Amino acid sequence: MSSVYTRPLARLIEQLQRLPGIGPKTAQRLALHLIKRPAADIQALAQALLEAKQQVGLCSICFHLSVEPVCEICASPQRDNHTLCVVADSRDVIAIEKTREYHGKYHVLGGLISPLEGITPEHLHIQPLVQRASQPHVQEVILAINPSIEGETTSLYVAQLLRPFVKVTRIAFGLPVGGDLDYADEMTLARALAGRREIEWQ
Ligand SMILES: [Zn+2]
Repeated sequence: MSSVYTRPLARLIEQLQRLPGIGPKTAQRLALHLIKRPAADIQALAQALLEAKQQVGLCSICFHLSVEPVCEICASPQRDNHTLCVVADSRDVIAIEKTREYHGKYHVLGGLISPLEGITPEHLHIQPLVQRASQPHVQEVILAINPSIEGETTSLYVAQLLRPFVKVTRIAFGLPVGGDLDYADEMTLARALAGRREIEWQ
């Protein structure tokens, strides 16, 4: 970084710029805003960051973010045990939960298959999914994965593995190709879930 910033400020900008969606200009704006805030505010922010990192892990069953070894959704007796909704990321769980239309359980893959980025099925939580989906009480697995190229590859891969022993459906996307589950409004997402269909095979 050039010498227009003092060292600590340059370091802060550099760190902020590593965050998703934050370019050099936003990083600079945030950094300049942050250093003007009272020290107590900055302390609280740093504390919240550290505590979140230290306390939030992954659910040992579904791999959603969780403070406990088993997340609230997996532990809840109110949730329907017959349905598993497969998503790429925890933020998709949050998006679907906001619709209040889904009452089953989840399985978070932790990403999508992407040969270009070197992400193979072994990097994702696919094996634990196969184990869960093969339990006799599971009747349906819903794939709620973005229809991007990586999303399609992942959906087909997972569907092929699960199809021999469980019904596999996909949510009906009224979204543009590559549309992010996270950005879909709650109504669209609720409709997509309700309109899910069994995967057709040639
Ligand atoms: Zn869980």
